[in-house]
Amino acid sequence: MRIARFTTGEDPQYGVVTGDLDEHGQLGEDAVVVALAGDPMYVGLKLLEQQHRLEDVRLLAPVLPRSKVVGIGRNYADHAKELGNDVPAEPLFFLKPNTSVVGPGDPVFYPPQTSDLHYEGELAVVIGRICRDVPAEKATDVIHGYTIGNDVTARDLQRSDDQWTRAKGFDSFCPLGPWIETDLDPQAFADGVRLRTFLNGDVVQDGSTADMVFDIPSLIAHVSSVMTLLPGDVILTGTPAGVGPMQVGDEVEVAIDGLGALTNTIKER
Ligand code: MG
Repeated sequence: MRIARFTTGEDPQYGVVTGDLDEHGQLGEDAVVVALAGDPMYVGLKLLEQQHRLEDVRLLAPVLPRSKVVGIGRNYADHAKELGNDVPAEPLFFLKPNTSVVGPGDPVFYPPQTSDLHYEGELAVVIGRICRDVPAEKATDVIHGYTIGNDVTARDLQRSDDQWTRAKGFDSFCPLGPWIETDLDPQAFADGVRLRTFLNGDVVQDGSTADMVFDIPSLIAHVSSVMTLLPGDVILTGTPAGVGPMQVGDEVEVAIDGLGALTNTIKER
C-alpha cells in the first residue's frame, strides 16, 4: 500500500494512492488518492469517502521525521571506492536534521557556501515504532515502510569540514517521497531492488539494494544500539556508485523499482 501526504490547497492530509506503476515508476492518469483520517502510523488505516485524482493534488514529503534522519555512509563498496574511501568495518552513520526534509517536486536549494552539490539516490526506511536495541532478526517489526530519498551533499564541505553536519544538513538537502510503500520488502529479493538516479533524464546511478555492505536489519540493529528510534524517523541506507554534481536548473530523479520515482529541481538559494 502506498501512503502519501498531500494537499489540495488546504491542510495536509494522508491518503492511499492507487494505480499501477509504469516502467518509469510513474502512475497513470487514472491514479487516485483516497483520503485517510489522520496519520495511519498512529491511528491505523481509516479510509474516508473523499478521494481525488492524483494529478489534482500536490504530494508532500510522506513523513515528517519525528526526531531525525539517520544517514548511512559508504554502504555500497563501489561508491566508497569512487570517492577514494574504504568500506567501513561497521556501519558509519551521521544525522541530517529533520528541517532538511522536503517533498516530491519541491526545490533543492543550491547554497552559496558550496560549489560542488551532489545527488545521492537512496532507499529510505521509515521507522514505525519506538524502539531501542532491536536485534537484526526483529528489525522488520519496527519498519513502517520504505520511501525514496536523496541524500543531497555539498561534497566540498564534506571534505573540508571534519564531520558532515553542514555538508548534509542544509534546508532542502533531504527530499523524500513520493509516498511510503508498506508492502515492498527489498530484503525479500535475492537480487535486491534496482535503484537508479537520472540527471536531466540521463542515468547517472544504476545499482541494486542487494549490494549494500550492511543490510537493512543490520543497520537498524546498529543504529538502535546507539539511539532510540521514534515513529517517523528515517534511515537513508546509502548510495550506490555514480554520485556527481548538480547545477541550478537541473532536474534530479531517483527511481526505485516497485516503489516509484522522486523528482526535484535545483534552484538558487
Ligand atoms: Mg548518502
